[in-house]
Amino acid sequence: MLGSGILKGLGVTAKNFVGSYHDPARMVTQEYPDTPAKLPEAYRNFPFLVTENATDPMGTLRCVACQICEKECPPQCIYIEKSKDKKPDATGKPQLYPAVFAIDTAVCMSCQLCVEVCPFDAIKMDHVFEVAATNRFEGLLLNREQLAKPNEYFHQIRPTEAAEVDGRLTAERQAAAEKAKAAAAAKAAAPKPTTPVAGVADPGPASPRPATPKPAEGGTAP
Ligand code: SF4
Ligand code: SF4
Repeated sequence: MLGSGILKGLGVTAKNFVGSYHDPARMVTQEYPDTPAKLPEAYRNFPFLVTENATDPMGTLRCVACQICEKECPPQCIYIEKSKDKKPDATGKPQLYPAVFAIDTAVCMSCQLCVEVCPFDAIKMDHVFEVAATNRFEGLLLNREQLAKPNEYFHQIRPTEAAEVDGRLTAERQAAAEKAKAAAAAKAAAPKPTTPVAGVADPGPASPRPATPKPAEGGTAP
């Protein structure tokens, strides 16, 4: 019938228009920026540094300044300076930390290679995309303080990955604690070295006695 396609199309439009008032699935338009954009979990833009504790972000960075990400970043937009001293990490092991950690997000190409190569789950990809700035260096060259975000934030934007990382780190920390406990128990059970008695000279290591020369056949020893 002539015009049936037009009527069918108008029917779909009317169905979505009326449905959008009571069915969120029919809200085909997001009211951005009034309503924050709903991003898929795997969305990525620029990296951020994970901290263990939101109240002490600089003291609980997971990063140990190994500089692997700095070496592997294709456009070389990461800059790191190692600390001179060490501080305990989440397992209590003394570790270096980044005295300086900066990422030039004007150069970053969001490849995620830094995340892939980090052995400490210390750097992850962020969801933030509203990063327009009028000053390239002040607005887009992010320092350590600007990059640091707590683990709770990581759970908010990437709950699946964050739960997997937490489970793995907890298992590693438990294994490290049990290993340290076993080492301490073995040390305590080991026999203590005896203390020398005062006034008695230590004979020192035994030296081999010189062999007595055998008498010659039919003669005497010299
Ligand atoms: S996402 Fe890629 S380009 Fe950006 S800092 Fe990481 S490695 Fe470099
Ligand atoms: S973010 Fe990871 S790979 Fe980069 S320096 Fe820190 S610990 Fe090393």
